[in-house]
Amino acid sequence: IIHIDNIIKTYGPLTVLDGLSMSVMPGEKLALIGPSGSGKTTILRILMTLEKINGGHIEIDGEQLYHMQKAGGLVAADERHLQKMREKIGMVFQHFNLFPHKCVRDNITLAPMLTKGIARAAAEARAMELLDMVGMADKAKSMPAQLSGGQKQRVAIARALALSPKIMLFDEVTSALDPELVEEVLNVMRKLAAETDMTMLLVTHEMGFAHDFADRILFFDKGRIVEEGKPDDIFRNPRQERTQTFLRKVI
Ligand code: ATP
Repeated sequence: IIHIDNIIKTYGPLTVLDGLSMSVMPGEKLALIGPSGSGKTTILRILMTLEKINGGHIEIDGEQLYHMQKAGGLVAADERHLQKMREKIGMVFQHFNLFPHKCVRDNITLAPMLTKGIARAAAEARAMELLDMVGMADKAKSMPAQLSGGQKQRVAIARALALSPKIMLFDEVTSALDPELVEEVLNVMRKLAAETDMTMLLVTHEMGFAHDFADRILFFDKGRIVEEGKPDDIFRNPRQERTQTFLRKVI
């Protein structure tokens, strides 16, 4: 469902992704691990069209993502195309990024009403279903500031699901949480994985969760995939020395 071919991403003199290629199968659960600065977050942001690339090809759900050369990088052809591509993908960020002046329910209904023209009543009904799924239905009228980090993150997941994406991206979604709140967010992700056939990509430092959750692990270092494989193989028998050193430090 995702094909990434030889992409290059630079920030000034810094090459963050260095000819990266990878593919993701429909329904696959993928975990991206690796040292800080290795480009994991950047790849999710590129897929979400939050960042341009300097070269290469990306195909999502059968459509080219970037296909116009402009000064400063390759960009999507036009706003409509970009919008269409964005609807295929939902993203959840480390720092929640909820709209602070909107209640929980309105955080979820905003995008469907604005971008898809869904009527308020239908959008609200769907929001309540999603809030129910993440165990937050009783907080529908609360403001984000009244919620714990774990609750905010569960709302952010519900919001990302509101446009019914085929692909969900999770960027270190538990890194900013107090340890006792991590599990409630991971539980929602486990439930999503079990109850839907969505393709899920996660960047995580939670090695235990990556092991249990993912079908495949990609180990990143310096903008390249150094090693990939099934969780048991990567965590028990990493082949590359770089992977071994990294895992010795974090496990
Ligand atoms: P972490 O686990 O710390 O989030 P990561 O593997 O996700 O690391 P990225 O966030 O993708 O790494 O960052 C890759 C590199 O790109 C880093 O060296 C980072 O400093 C750099 N970088 C990211 N965004 C920008 C930016 N907007 N401008 C300049 N450099 C950036």
